[in-house]
Amino acid sequence: MAWDFQTEPEYQEKLDWARAFVREEIWPLETIFGELSQDQLDDAYRPLQEQVKAQGLWAAHLDPELGGQGYGQVKLGLLHEILGTSPFAPNAFGCQAPDSGNSEILALAGTPEQKERWLEPLLAGDIKSAFSMTEPGAGADPTLLTTTAVRDGDDWVINGHKWFSSNASIADLLIVMAVTDPDARPHQRASMFLVPADTPGVNILRDVPTMEHPQEEFGKLGGHAEILYEDVRIPGDALLGAQGAGFLIAQHRLGPGRIHHCMRWLGVSQRAFDMLCERATYRYAFGSRLAEKQTVQNWIADSAAEMQAARLMTLHAAWKMDKDGPAAARTDIALIKFFGAKVLHDVVDRALQIHGSLGYSTDLPIEAMYRFARAARIYDGPDEVHRQSVARQVLRGYTPPADEVPSEHVPTRRAAAREKFAHLLEAVTAND
Ligand SMILES: Cc1cc2nc3c(=O)[nH]c(=O)nc-3n(C[C@H](O)[C@H](O)[C@H](O)COP(=O)(O)OP(=O)(O)OC[C@H]3O[C@@H](n4cnc5c(N)ncnc54)[C@H](O)[C@@H]3O)c2cc1C
Repeated sequence: MAWDFQTEPEYQEKLDWARAFVREEIWPLETIFGELSQDQLDDAYRPLQEQVKAQGLWAAHLDPELGGQGYGQVKLGLLHEILGTSPFAPNAFGCQAPDSGNSEILALAGTPEQKERWLEPLLAGDIKSAFSMTEPGAGADPTLLTTTAVRDGDDWVINGHKWFSSNASIADLLIVMAVTDPDARPHQRASMFLVPADTPGVNILRDVPTMEHPQEEFGKLGGHAEILYEDVRIPGDALLGAQGAGFLIAQHRLGPGRIHHCMRWLGVSQRAFDMLCERATYRYAFGSRLAEKQTVQNWIADSAAEMQAARLMTLHAAWKMDKDGPAAARTDIALIKFFGAKVLHDVVDRALQIHGSLGYSTDLPIEAMYRFARAARIYDGPDEVHRQSVARQVLRGYTPPADEVPSEHVPTRRAAAREKFAHLLEAVTAND
């Protein structure tokens, strides 16, 4: 019987190495990020990336023939849990979103020429990429996209307005979703295009200031760009995959990406949880340490239980994906996307609360975690859409009862049971 919760010892060693490396080499970068330019940050990363490569942990999400480690989603999930402890860790490991998802779709749908031009340098860490789908008027429901790509001779010409294209202002490659077949069925209307960021007509207006990065700052890792595509002319071979297959390819990108997000959120949650527990051990108020207050004990117990539940659910979704593929894991992935985002939010919120004014201040990383956590309920599909998707799947297993009498209706069941066990009931009556 295969039902095993252990990590094999060789891989556990790698995870132990990664945990210590992220803690000692990456966490310090967080405190001086604001003082570094993107070029200086890239310089800081280079030697770290070499160490990761030497450990065989670089680009762990892709198959070995593509330069990755071919670990599959479970092993990768365990690694992402560690990388999630710092927003700067994934970049050192060659699995920074959106590059990781983009390399997955290039591997899946790219031609040999497209892979050579874009996937190889992306995997080597020589270029950066962005995924440009959301528009100011179309997000949760991407069938409402209005950006178009129109054939003109051998070329395609793209026109449209996108925003929240993460990392686009520092990217070399933009993967753009545009409508190519407006009269087709909704999920067959759009296609994906590989657009070099320096193509004339790609007009990056700004990095949109957000709750996570409130100050307007252009051209830095983690920015979310607003882009006008104005008569952007690209050759016919810039089409990624088949015409009209944009949503199909996007689905392949989003499934694993959501598992990685959920595992990374557990890394953030664990770090916040550690701060919560540490504070409970020393802060003294109203006659006792906070650890002795029942409310705080409830926070600790609830957080531990919720993180454990989210972790097992996420690893289970990853296991299903490894075993049966993305389609089989779809509902599990939708489950963990909204559940994991809530666990992240609630654990970080409790960690902030127990630190009082210190937690609210930038002297601790919790307020930044809190701002990060809020976005998790929106990107890669808002909570409500995932809940709707889970509910629809679940409801497929149910049908209305005959005459709309609930199947558990006790008087109806009792009448049926009386009939079924009539011989026993008769015997009881006869004995009276
Ligand atoms: C930090 C961050 C990074 C992002 N990075 C990228 C990126 O790299 N590339 C990219 O293309 N996009 C990116 N996005 C955009 C993201 O994918 C969208 O924000 C998301 O799909 C939601 O779309 P929207 O913001 O337009 O919200 P809307 O579509 O306007 O939805 C708003 C709200 O409506 C409600 N709603 C929607 N549908 C339903 C429903 N079926 N039932 C009930 N309520 C519903 C929900 O409460 C939802 O939050 C990013 C967003 C964030 C916040």
